[in-house]
Amino acid sequence: MYDWLIVGAGFAGSVLAERIATQRNEKVLVIDRRDHIAGNAYDMYDEAGVLMHRYGPHIFHTNSKQIFDHLSQFTDWRFYEHRVLGEIDGQHVPIPINLDTVNKLYNLKLTSEELEGWFAQRAETVDEIKTSEDVVVSKVGRELYEKFFRGYTRKQWGLDPSELDKSVTARVPTRTNRDDRYFTDEFQFMPKHGYTRMFQKMLQHPNIHVMLQTDYQDVKHLIPHRRTIYSGPIDEFFDFRFGRLPYRSLQFKHVTLDQAWFQPVGTVNYPMTQDYTRISEYKHLTGQDHPRTTITYEYPAAEGDPYYPVPKPENQELFKRYEKLANATPDVWFVGRLATYRYYNMDQIVGQALATFRRIQEALPSGAET
Ligand code: FAD
Ligand code: UDP
Repeated sequence: MYDWLIVGAGFAGSVLAERIATQRNEKVLVIDRRDHIAGNAYDMYDEAGVLMHRYGPHIFHTNSKQIFDHLSQFTDWRFYEHRVLGEIDGQHVPIPINLDTVNKLYNLKLTSEELEGWFAQRAETVDEIKTSEDVVVSKVGRELYEKFFRGYTRKQWGLDPSELDKSVTARVPTRTNRDDRYFTDEFQFMPKHGYTRMFQKMLQHPNIHVMLQTDYQDVKHLIPHRRTIYSGPIDEFFDFRFGRLPYRSLQFKHVTLDQAWFQPVGTVNYPMTQDYTRISEYKHLTGQDHPRTTITYEYPAAEGDPYYPVPKPENQELFKRYEKLANATPDVWFVGRLATYRYYNMDQIVGQALATFRRIQEALPSGAET
């Protein structure tokens, strides 16, 4: 008899497994339908011996010292600040749009102050910023919106930015200075020996068993357990009772090249051309010294593994109906990107898992056999 059955060995499931095993001294079984732990953050050495990410580039960044300290129990870190270039009009320019982006693209020599005025002249008045189009055109105007955001978003989501919640493109800021970092968080690091190694350490405890290639649907009635933590898709948990929640998927094309480097930075975005959205080169992220290099092309897809919840009002409404069911389901905690249908980064999922653990502690004081 397990005290807990945890579905999913990604950040949500693994952070909770460790907390429950060490702080509550309870027996945990973690299952995952994939053949590995670490969820979408899974990394591995490919045939050439290059450390790469099977599900696309994962860069850890957070402003929360608590979250950073928590993970630091399981890994050392490598300082890494991600940089992204966009291929626009045949040139490589910094993304997020900054002073250098505009000066290079338009062959100008604006100062930061002048750029503010330049943006203001082009910005469109939007009464209420609701959509992913509103966010951008109200800041930088239509031309830059079309160059940087419209095509990329249509590819990535199969939707026009005007159909997506503002939160999607609001992830990418606009700057008037020369800061060319993709993220500005206080803590920006990669796990020194990779994510998978960090997860191995997290899950290494006598109270934790891990079973891979095991689907919850197949074993839920076979494995005796008292309580469940579920980090899979919430609509699947309830047999799609109200219909399917839309998720966006990706096809990854991983290529190893017989050369030391492929591109100048970790990621190059292709907002205006190509079927893929971006190419990432892992050695920039990992700092690995290797004569060959591995890159990944991301091709957005409607079908396939669910990667991105699609932030649209009607999807949120459908999710709310499932959430109501979830709240009325005793002894099951729903956590993670798929179970709470939120476009969360890794650190936010760690934060959510730690908050869930606090709720568990309050609801079930340790040792209480309720
Ligand atoms: P997951 O990692 O998806 O884990 C859920 C696990 O549950 C999966 O392994 C799945 O196989 C398993 N599962 C589901 N259903 C079942 C079932 N029925 N039975 C058994 N197992 C099941 N975040 C960042 O902070 N920085 C980044 O740079 C970044 N880049 C990203 C790039 C891409 C291409 C994608 C898709 C995401 C990126 N993210 C990034 C987000 C990050 O991947 C997530 O925040 C994080 O992995 C979510 O963790 P999770 O545990 O909720 O979900
Ligand atoms: N985006 C864009 N052009 C870019 C980069 C991002 O239009 O060059 C939009 C796009 O809609 C994307 C969103 O901003 O889905 C968020 O970008 P981010 O890089 O955060 O996406 P993720 O890494 O989560 O896929």
